[in-house]
Amino acid sequence: MHLIVAEKNISARRIAAMLAGNNHVTNKKEGGVDTYAFDDTVLVGLKGHVVEVDFVEGYTNWRSEERPPRSLIDAGIVKRPTEKRIVSLLQKLAKKADLVTIATDFDTEGELIGKEAYELVRAVNKGVRILRARFSAITPQEIKRAFSELTELDFALAAAGESRQIIDLMWGASLTRFISIAARRGGANILSVGRVQSPTLAMIADREKEIESFVPQKYWMLTLDTKKDGSPLELRHTHGRFVDHDDALAARKRTTEPLTVTEVKEGVKNDRAPTPFDTTSLLVAAGRLGFSAANAMRVAEDLYMNGFISYPRTDNTVYPASLNLDEVLGVLKATAFSGDVAWVERHRRPEPTRGKKSSTDHPPIHPTGAATPAQLGEERWKLYELVVRRFLATLSPDARWLTMKVNFDAGGEPYTVTGGQLKEEGWRRVYPYSEAAERLIPACTVGERLPILGVNLEEKETQPPPRYTQSRLIQTMEELGLGTKSTRHEVIGKLVSRRYVQGNPLRPTLVGRAVVESLEKHADTITRPDMTRTLEASMQQIKESTRTRDDVVGESRAMLHSVFDDLEAHEEQIGAEIMDRTVEERTVGPCPVCGKDLQIRQVHGASQFIGCSGYPECTFNISLPGVQWGKAIRLDQVCDKHRLNHIRLIRKGARPWDIGCPLCSHIESNAATLRLIPHMTDALLARLHASHMYTVPDIVRASAADLAAHLSIGSEEAEKLVQEANDVLDLLRRRSELKKFIRAEVSPRRGRSHAKIAQKLAAAGIDDIAALGSARVDVLKEAGLSDEETQGLRAKAQAIRSERRLREAGLPAVSIKKYLEAGIAGPEDFATLHPAYISAKSGVRVETVCKHAEVACSSAGLDTPPKITQKRLEKGREELLAVPGIGEPTLEKLYRAGIVDAASLAAADPERASAASGIPAAKIRACIASISAEDKKERVRT
Ligand SMILES: [Zn+2]
Ligand SMILES: [Zn+2]
Repeated sequence: MHLIVAEKNISARRIAAMLAGNNHVTNKKEGGVDTYAFDDTVLVGLKGHVVEVDFVEGYTNWRSEERPPRSLIDAGIVKRPTEKRIVSLLQKLAKKADLVTIATDFDTEGELIGKEAYELVRAVNKGVRILRARFSAITPQEIKRAFSELTELDFALAAAGESRQIIDLMWGASLTRFISIAARRGGANILSVGRVQSPTLAMIADREKEIESFVPQKYWMLTLDTKKDGSPLELRHTHGRFVDHDDALAARKRTTEPLTVTEVKEGVKNDRAPTPFDTTSLLVAAGRLGFSAANAMRVAEDLYMNGFISYPRTDNTVYPASLNLDEVLGVLKATAFSGDVAWVERHRRPEPTRGKKSSTDHPPIHPTGAATPAQLGEERWKLYELVVRRFLATLSPDARWLTMKVNFDAGGEPYTVTGGQLKEEGWRRVYPYSEAAERLIPACTVGERLPILGVNLEEKETQPPPRYTQSRLIQTMEELGLGTKSTRHEVIGKLVSRRYVQGNPLRPTLVGRAVVESLEKHADTITRPDMTRTLEASMQQIKESTRTRDDVVGESRAMLHSVFDDLEAHEEQIGAEIMDRTVEERTVGPCPVCGKDLQIRQVHGASQFIGCSGYPECTFNISLPGVQWGKAIRLDQVCDKHRLNHIRLIRKGARPWDIGCPLCSHIESNAATLRLIPHMTDALLARLHASHMYTVPDIVRASAADLAAHLSIGSEEAEKLVQEANDVLDLLRRRSELKKFIRAEVSPRRGRSHAKIAQKLAAAGIDDIAALGSARVDVLKEAGLSDEETQGLRAKAQAIRSERRLREAGLPAVSIKKYLEAGIAGPEDFATLHPAYISAKSGVRVETVCKHAEVACSSAGLDTPPKITQKRLEKGREELLAVPGIGEPTLEKLYRAGIVDAASLAAADPERASAASGIPAAKIRACIASISAEDKKERVRT
């Protein structure tokens, strides 16, 4: 069997279809993993890495005394499966294989993933041949070519990837642990540090420092308005920026008519067609279309997997000779770009453009398959179109501009104007992404005079350097050798998700700056790109087999040890610096009660609130939604009224939830419940707020005496207020229980959220589960519930209520269950139903029922029903069964009417017994008659 291992499931599926040709491909799921089979071949897709590097056991405890952060540098490293199901399927298939082909992506990461698969296969099959297929696009031609030229795995390339993996783990884990412990951060708030991440963060933080320390310089620009052939024309003074205001004023003063044309220069400018896309230039171009780097990469990978574009991780900007450009054009003829393709074919430049970097692994990014907007959807189409148009542009002629420059003289002051006109569109025709602003100047002749319509002196300021946009940052990282084409966008994504940077352009957060500045001060190796550049060079040496993996990792270990020498010597200082700087990030503003700082607090990473830094003297606090709704962070915006920063909840993968001013929100969300207090008035509410009491619990916690003093009300009124607040709390508790019940029982649908249902129920006066049990059907339907749900809900609610009442009445849980099944709803049923009946229905022994009846009735203040022993019941049963017409099924009905033996039957009122039991009165009469007949006979006999 030939086993082919692809990088992902989707590539396995596509490669299978391409290799199978006309054969049918069978798709099977084994242990949840897809396989694709034809002939004697089986394909399975990985999920990228299916194993990860990790430390050996014993290093998970951050607080271990014997194993401080530094110990991670020399800790043993193992590979652990992260995708267990794929690993076990791969090994199961490998046992049966007589040939294995690794068909993962063709680059360092792909080679490493391939080596991981290789090791998993070798572990279970020592003898099998393992080969490697290398391709740059998942298209039929490319895949068939790759499988006809199978080679060996490149272990040197994989070792380079492995060394980076190990070094990243070592640096990242040990430094993150050290800094987090130093700054007393844990759980969701750890401070991560990384080999590429930290220098990148430093670049952003340093740029921010430059911007802050920038002192703007004033300068002046002099322009002149004139007119030619009816159209206005603005001329610039050739001096450009006047740094001296007096110079500018003097030049303006000297500017006088006549305004004379002194020189007209015309020329032609070549506008070169762009070079082929590599990863960085694709990300930059996509950034201009609004894609974040990470998103552009995700979409590009998706397009690659589906065969629409070539492999998107490449440093190559020169089309290799082996790439058939005509064939690519041919593919594009079948798309919406057929008109552009035809134009390119007519005007094609002799050689395609070429960039500076040529490498052999992958061609520049180019289209490989035809697609339609409907097929791809908006986002994917946007990126696909960009790749197609860039490809077409690289085959198109240069554009040509006609340039014109006209110089003037006004009273000895030189002015000028330049213009440009696109003479030959060239590549711009097929690549409309970069602006080509034409500026037309009317024809002028030397010596010609024009009027001066105005002279303007404009004051301006020099601008600080701009912040990095994501695409600009990626470019700069590339220039500095930070990260690789595959990792740069991920590093930026991590900085954002760890809240070290925010916005686009990117700004460092307080934490981000605090961490960088402390590291720069005490161990700047971590924040400088040199170290990571050295590693890239060493990796290159591993690829070329001039150094070994262990050698490079060993060197990195030594470097990290010396970093720790510096860090450990300043641990306390580093911790204090970061903590001092970051406390600001949690501070929201002044406490309304005592004026000290209010701070965002998180408890065990689960709940969060805003508390006063004056605690325990000041207990003022504002509750916030749980962390599962998002972590609370401070925004820059400040509430005018309360001088508190606005709060936002952020959660990975969810839209942020803006709470606004926490106090405004606190007041607003509690106003409605405060108004549930019967004696609440607007005036009283205002007085409560003025005393910083915003919630019902605030009132309950206060003493009546305090309330009377703060609100200037009588002590009786204050006591009443506390009592009413307590009742409201009880109501709220019952309502929240009802809400929980609804949430558990009813599935939300469009237009009926749980909150909406609860709201409608509350409006109808249904405040708790008990009320729901006895609610009218139409009321429930009005709240958006279906017939079926209404019945189910009511039954469940009734059961809960009954269960609760029986429990409150003091009955044991085991029996309660049986009673509920028998339809007993509360203590009153014990008072009205005969114990014999309850016993027959529930299966509880009759004597136990009698005991329970006594307990239940006395707790509810009801009369205790008659008692009966098991023995008496048995005897009565025999008596009744002896009566003609009474069988087992009739017994239970009779019990219901309190008829338990011959005597009680004889004494029964037929009408009433019929109503209670459901047995026709005539039949009861007949039974009574037959008893008295028997009775007479008996008497005659004796
Ligand atoms: Zn306070
Ligand atoms: Zn406010």
